[in-house]
Formats: sequence, C-alpha cells, structure tokens
Amino acid sequence: MSRLLPQPAGIPAPRPSLHSEPYWDGCRRHQLLYQRCAECGYRGLGAFTVCAQCHATSPVREASAGMGSLYSWTVVWRPPDPSFRVPYAPAVVRLDEGFWMMSALIGCEPEELHDGLRLAVEFHPANGEITLPYFARRGGARSSRHRRSREPVSAIGFLGSAGRRARQPEAGQHRGGYHGGLGGPRRTADL
Ligand SMILES: [Zn+2]
Repeated sequence: MSRLLPQPAGIPAPRPSLHSEPYWDGCRRHQLLYQRCAECGYRGLGAFTVCAQCHATSPVREASAGMGSLYSWTVVWRPPDPSFRVPYAPAVVRLDEGFWMMSALIGCEPEELHDGLRLAVEFHPANGEITLPYFARRGGARSSRHRRSREPVSAIGFLGSAGRRARQPEAGQHRGGYHGGLGGPRRTADL
C-alpha cells in the first residue's frame, strides 16, 4: 500500500507575498482563486498585474470550480525534507477554466494515475496559517488528451514562494515530451 495522502501539518510552507496573499486567503476559505484578463480572457493562477498575452493591466480575480485533468506527474520517494510523507506525487493539473497549476495528488495509489485523469481540488492545512490545494481523483471516463499549451505553468499552487520544497516533474514524464508514449509513474531514484 502506498496511497497518496496529504502531507502532515508542520511541513515547510510557503510564505505569502503582497501579491500572493489573496490567493492564500482563498485557499484558507477552500477557494481556488485565479486571475483573468478582462481584455482578452487570458487566465493564470499566479498573481499578475500585466497580462502576459495582451499587456492589459486589468486582471480580475475569480474562483475556480476546482475541477481539472491530470497532465503530468512524478512520484517522489526520497523527500527534500524529512518532514514530508512519502510517496507523494507533484503534478501539473489543467483546470477546466483553462489555466495550469502545480499541485500534489492524493486519494489514490500511484499506479492508478494516468494522463487525463479527472481531478477535483481538496484543501488541507500545512500549518496554522497556510492551507494547500491538493487534487484527488474523481470518477468518470478518461478524458481526451489536452492540446499542449505554451502557457507557463505556475508553481504557486503547491510550491508557493519556496520553490525548493517540491520538484518539477521529471522531463521524461511530460506528456508529449521526450517520451510521448511514456505511461504511468515510476520510482525515481534521484528524488
Ligand atoms: Zn489580456
């Protein structure tokens, strides 16, 4: 049994900045907030004041329904900090609203993960102040593969300002990347 679970309270947690504080306040209320450009509709998780697509300066903050699909992931067995419970699975999730985020998967075995797995956000406390968004599997048919996007993947979801606390997925596990047909998770020796 190696079921993926939320991390125990007390792990190293992000420290909100002036710009990310509304996001973390939303997480504490179990709301996943993102920003949408009022001019062109560009959506992003990370706080921005200038649209990356049209350079407008009129972003609005909206709440996501918290539903998405699994795009890429890896399974970590050797944590960067001993307070982390292993295994855990950092993942890139494509939210139904069209933005991307890094998070971690919970509620299933690593072997059950697959490209396009339907996911729903869940919130669990990292400490008394920070609540982290995780994604758990939801029932339903395997969805079709999403088109690759050039949009940057925000690391704010799980990594926050402390990017060293979790890792990007291994390059070989990006769908359509170096090994387009690569299947499920694998034990990664150097993590
Ligand atoms: Zn725009």
